[in-house]
Amino acid sequence: MAFIYIKPELKQDMTRLSDILNIPEPLLISANLHADLDVFYFPGLHVQAGKEAPAAETYEEMKILVNRQPKLEHEKWLTNRAVHDSQTLKQEMEKIADCFPFVTYHIIGRSVLGQPIYELNIGEENAEKRTHINASFHANEWITTSVLMKWIKEYCLSLCKDEQVFGFSPVQLFRMTKLSIVPLVNPDGVDLVLHGPGHLGLERKTLDEMNEYQPDYREWKANINGVDLNNQFPSFWEIEKQRKPPKAPSYRDYPGDAPLTEPEAAAMRNLIVRRPPDRLVALHTQGEEIYWGYKGYEPRESADVIQTFERFSGYKGVRYIDSYAGFRDWFIHHFGKEGYTVELGKGKNPLPLEQFDDIYCKSRGILWASCFFEG
Ligand SMILES: [Zn+2]
Repeated sequence: MAFIYIKPELKQDMTRLSDILNIPEPLLISANLHADLDVFYFPGLHVQAGKEAPAAETYEEMKILVNRQPKLEHEKWLTNRAVHDSQTLKQEMEKIADCFPFVTYHIIGRSVLGQPIYELNIGEENAEKRTHINASFHANEWITTSVLMKWIKEYCLSLCKDEQVFGFSPVQLFRMTKLSIVPLVNPDGVDLVLHGPGHLGLERKTLDEMNEYQPDYREWKANINGVDLNNQFPSFWEIEKQRKPPKAPSYRDYPGDAPLTEPEAAAMRNLIVRRPPDRLVALHTQGEEIYWGYKGYEPRESADVIQTFERFSGYKGVRYIDSYAGFRDWFIHHFGKEGYTVELGKGKNPLPLEQFDDIYCKSRGILWASCFFEG
């Protein structure tokens, strides 16, 4: 963690600290919410900062101390594109929370193979609005995790500088909206697609059968049980079950034997039910489209918000598609709140990493706008 030791009394005047250090006050407050008395977390510094430094006794000493600490400017990982499996994702989250201590993360459930499913939170504790964003429900859509993780870093860096992006003040968004982000819903599936069954220490026989004996696992979409996690939700699930071709576990499209049988789907459901967000954004790949309606259950605001999303991305808004039992379908159906499925990129899944820059360039505006709520 990037921090410095200070005399506890100095922390009582956060406004003064914010002025001296030129870091927005809401970030300092959020970063130090659960800090020890003599520790002051400071976003935007190198992870190694502060560990060896003596404690600051005055504001002046503090300013000098902070200025001496290594900053983040030349950290390449902040702007690089990276593919994430379950392991590198964890390292990436740790790094982000170290450098930007106003970011927290915790485990919301575990996959079939017992891997943790993480939620990251960014935003003021008592923010009025909440937005939930997730990625990699589908294993062969792992590029969505890369896009989301890169955007989180862009958001954190912009917060520290508080420079306008897409006409938004990042700090205003931070105060307005608390973000709930699940960057990797299907860790087992993504690890399978990226590394194959050997890496997971699994017997090939059942997997090969579910995979219809294809030479590799690149097109695997389901979780490791062969259930499509985005067909697992209790909203007209029976219709989906009846009409989907696979009648047994498969690398794609099998809705399971009942809704929410899979631990990944149950974890996502529980997260939402515990505290339903005002807006939900699910990242998938294929088609440069954004689905925003569901059988008329969507709220009126969705029709306005989709226009902003379209304008910022060049993607096309589509009100209704023939879909049931999806995470977003269920959310709109049961809560009557805004839900969007963003289909990144075009081509054949998995989309190659060469498309990353283009995808990122088009989709980042949607992620920014998803934090903003009209008056
Ligand atoms: Zn998908």
